[in-house]
Amino acid sequence: MIEKKVVTRFAPSPTGFMHVGGVRTALYAYLYAKKHNGTFILRIEDTDKEREVSGATEHIMKSLRFILSGDETLEKIDPWDFGPNNPGEFGSCIQSERLDIYNNYAQKLFDAGLAYTDPYSNDEITAFREQSERAKAPFLYRNHRPKEFSSVWDKTKPLRFKTPTIGRTDWSDAVRGKLTAGAEALDDFIIMKSDGYPTYNFCHIVDDIEMGVTHVMRGEEFIPSTPKFISMYSALQTVLPEKSIELPIFVTLPPILGETGTKKLSKRDGAKDVLEYHTEGYLPEALANYLALQGWNPGGEQEIFTMNELIDLFNISRIQKSGARWNEDKLLWVNKKHMTDKYKEHPKGETLCKRDFYNALPDFVVRDPRFKEQQYPAGSIGSSPDWTTSFHALFERYFERISFWGELTQDLIKAELEMIIDRPNVSKDLVVRDLDINETKLILGEVYNLLYTSDEIVWSEKYLRELLSIAITTHGTKKVLWPLRVSLSGQEKSVDPFSLLRMIGKEEALHRIQNVLDSI
Ligand code: GLU
Repeated sequence: MIEKKVVTRFAPSPTGFMHVGGVRTALYAYLYAKKHNGTFILRIEDTDKEREVSGATEHIMKSLRFILSGDETLEKIDPWDFGPNNPGEFGSCIQSERLDIYNNYAQKLFDAGLAYTDPYSNDEITAFREQSERAKAPFLYRNHRPKEFSSVWDKTKPLRFKTPTIGRTDWSDAVRGKLTAGAEALDDFIIMKSDGYPTYNFCHIVDDIEMGVTHVMRGEEFIPSTPKFISMYSALQTVLPEKSIELPIFVTLPPILGETGTKKLSKRDGAKDVLEYHTEGYLPEALANYLALQGWNPGGEQEIFTMNELIDLFNISRIQKSGARWNEDKLLWVNKKHMTDKYKEHPKGETLCKRDFYNALPDFVVRDPRFKEQQYPAGSIGSSPDWTTSFHALFERYFERISFWGELTQDLIKAELEMIIDRPNVSKDLVVRDLDINETKLILGEVYNLLYTSDEIVWSEKYLRELLSIAITTHGTKKVLWPLRVSLSGQEKSVDPFSLLRMIGKEEALHRIQNVLDSI
């Protein structure tokens, strides 16, 4: 038997932002296609014009570029083989541009007596529905199927599917196993609306057939409609024998639940737009890693995977049935692991982390025209001839504290960066505080001299500690380090003075201390 080429698709409706559940579906479809050298299609299901949100398609494309391709520009690397910007032999990947195809399929069904125009008004249908409610019976349109059918479809009325066989449906799902549903799952559903657009229930099947989709991955909310879909497949097999239509493999993915594990992850539990993670500086590979494990695992202890490892290991047989639990702390942990791995890969003069670091710097720093080496205060990190080493000092300090890059924008760090880049206004009172003013001036002068004679080539924190140890032993820690730290930072609280010295550099440090000495 010749194996069919694997074709998967992700088929979102452009009705809002992309939440993690949607991206997880896309990720699984992507991993499976890549693993089997198959094709991954992004299809935009925009036939419900009332629910469409403008800009949503672009947003979906950016989200997938970010998570699946690791494309931080969100513009350049498409993970899909065919998508809204890249049609296939089967035509456009945007449903609203495929109306002729759906019309042709619908016409075939109509001509074969497998579809009919709906003669009822909305009020009449509402009355049928109420009638069923009163009788405590499920509302089934097919119980009101008209006695006679119109012989022409003039497109002013909705077109309904005439379900050929009413009975039990048994089918198999690659994750859930054997599934079955009673006859009440089958009904004469609308396939073409009076506005000229097809319904999801119909056109996604037409597209899956036309695009050669072999594996349909989606959430469990589609299980109740699957009997209807299967019935449509068999009707289409009858009217289009030349197409050798086969059922795809249904792969039902488990839901992603909130942290308590009792209900679906909602906005209230912190489900957010995937692009918010981009804004906050999460690594795409960490998100892909964490998302992949929300409903699947390869077995074993390993928890950190690269995209290539995921492609290699992914399989349908280990997709779980039960819901996965979203845990933001775990995501942070995974993100930090990936950050650390990336950092380790590029230990010295690395460009990758430097870039991430720049990208994550708060806007106020990046937009500041002084964010050019020459314009830093003399002696500060940016102006140091040994920029890479200085950069590392700063980088390492922050790296220890953060789990995602966006944390760098938090107020404390913002203030610290400001303090390093801008010479602070130092309050004389804060420098002296509860110390003796003359003694403070004397000690600070002594520190100035020690720093003045120091060797800036070896300005490590260790070297600086040793350098000042004589003064500290003589006068005590507080009398030396408090005025020094305040002179450098201007702040009541900041990182320790040795880190500050290291970060701002010798020349700038001497300037700041001199300014204070001049004022007291
Ligand atoms: N447009 C449907 C949705 O967004 C797609 C479901 C499917 O994958 O068939 O839920």
